Amino acid sequence: MTAKANEVTNWWKCWPSLYDAEMAAFSAHGAAATVLNDQNDMLILDVEWPLEDRTVNLKVGFSPLHPFFPPTVTAPDINLARHRNPFDGGLCLLVPGAGHWNSKQRVAELIHEQLVKIFDVNRLREEEKWDEAAAVEEQAPDPLANYYFNEAEDHSTVYFARPAVPAQSCGPAEFFINPRAANGSTSAFEAMLRRTKPASGHWLAPLFEPKGWAGNWKQSEGRWVRLKQPMPKDAAGLLAAAEAVIAQQVTANKLLRPLQERGNRDLRITVIIFDDEIAYGPDGTGDGWLFLVERWQGKGAKGHSVALVRSYEVSEEIFARLPVAAALRNKKVLLIGAGAVGSFVAAELVRAGIGELTIVDPDRVEPGNSVRWLLGRIAWGLPKVLALSNFLMTNYPFARVVAWGTRLGEGTTDVDVARSVSPTPVSELRRLIDEADLVVDASASIDCQAAMAHECRRIGTPLVVGYATEGLHGGVVVRLRPGAPACWVCLNEHWSDGGIKVPPRDPSATVIPIGCNSPTFTGGSFDLQEVSMEVVRSAIGLLAPDEYDAGDWDWSALALVRDGRRTLPQWDCGTLAPHPKCSGCGSK
Ligand SMILES: [Zn+2]
Repeated sequence: MTAKANEVTNWWKCWPSLYDAEMAAFSAHGAAATVLNDQNDMLILDVEWPLEDRTVNLKVGFSPLHPFFPPTVTAPDINLARHRNPFDGGLCLLVPGAGHWNSKQRVAELIHEQLVKIFDVNRLREEEKWDEAAAVEEQAPDPLANYYFNEAEDHSTVYFARPAVPAQSCGPAEFFINPRAANGSTSAFEAMLRRTKPASGHWLAPLFEPKGWAGNWKQSEGRWVRLKQPMPKDAAGLLAAAEAVIAQQVTANKLLRPLQERGNRDLRITVIIFDDEIAYGPDGTGDGWLFLVERWQGKGAKGHSVALVRSYEVSEEIFARLPVAAALRNKKVLLIGAGAVGSFVAAELVRAGIGELTIVDPDRVEPGNSVRWLLGRIAWGLPKVLALSNFLMTNYPFARVVAWGTRLGEGTTDVDVARSVSPTPVSELRRLIDEADLVVDASASIDCQAAMAHECRRIGTPLVVGYATEGLHGGVVVRLRPGAPACWVCLNEHWSDGGIKVPPRDPSATVIPIGCNSPTFTGGSFDLQEVSMEVVRSAIGLLAPDEYDAGDWDWSALALVRDGRRTLPQWDCGTLAPHPKCSGCGSK
């Protein structure tokens, strides 16, 4: 249902008594409020707010969805070092500790409570009473660099790893640049600051390179400049200030002249370094970083443009939200099967910080199987292992992903083929199992599961087997640890004699794809992922038990359907005892 033509959408017309209450609250605090705008559902008030011995001018912009969302308040005329956006004067009214926006509170009440605090905390910081300030405000830095981000162009990005910069005014900088546009144009690009150099002397050691980063990275010379506060607020002002610093240095050192020359470039990046708040507290000042890009179209000055580019510090710190990643960064996983379970397992393991993943699968992505696969049209027609490794290495450059497009265990009647195989299939598989810290079988093939269970037990590598049952009524995730008293054969014997209940299944819910004689089950990725994610959790638990509890079960069985009705996912689990019929475990 869309809004009707004559429907009232202004909150103050829907709720006139709320409007009256908001205006009355301003009067109650001695503030004079006049309406600056009431068009387009956006109510803006101009407010003269009394504060101690003076009056502060505020612009109060109510949310168009008032009172559900908080207002935007700016103080254009006052100068505050903190809690005021230096670009637009926006006030940070919701100082943590005061809690979140309370829709039952009138806006004037919020201003009354918070405005005094903002002035107080700025005074405390000026007087270097950091303990007292910390009691009122969040103890996080408020870098000026972040405010420049709002001014940055949309389609380009610079990465850097906070390299050492000489304590001088300017010098050369080296970048790698990868065009983002399909035609290779650098109108949109990603760039990486590789290293910097003092005005004279050697390059500082290379710190950051696109090694293993997919793309068409090309080296590009730029420059770095130190600017002093106060900083110009826009790209053109920053560039002019940077050029002035360079011009001054060139008079003293002619070797710096190339920093002023365009050469045959059509793009140049300038790093601006300045004193910024990078940590909370009295010693919080450090190097702030901004990146300017100049582009030239044609030879003259007319085609010259300059813009700010958003930048991100990229390092192992990107895993800060994921403490377990540190324990996974040097782990290797071998994944057998990259289908409806395996493709999601691959992506989730790499996202979790696994250092190296080898994926084995013989199939291709097709329109019909991509409805329950990680990627869609960009992968149609490609081998699953290649589509996955390209996608994962492009998007998660800290992981190494190796593709092996083979059908495990497939024989041949061609003598020449058999004799030319190198390395031999069994030795290659055993090498991979031996080098892996963990093997995941997501093949959904009972032949493959039995073979992997046998080989992993022989070699001593833990194995997680995961698959969905027919009709997607349930699933199974089994963890087989080396040296355990029971094995895959034992589990299958327990299932067949009813010692362990098999999860629900519906053998009728299958579909036979055209031109292929092996039926596949019907069902959605949204159900399959219940299995995929437990495979991932089990894998991570076995790889990093100190950081992520593996749990103490060996087998787990999922039910998504009970008595013919969908149920919330229900997991049963248990440990595995040796079965007397298992020739390996039962006789012991
Ligand atoms: Zn056994």
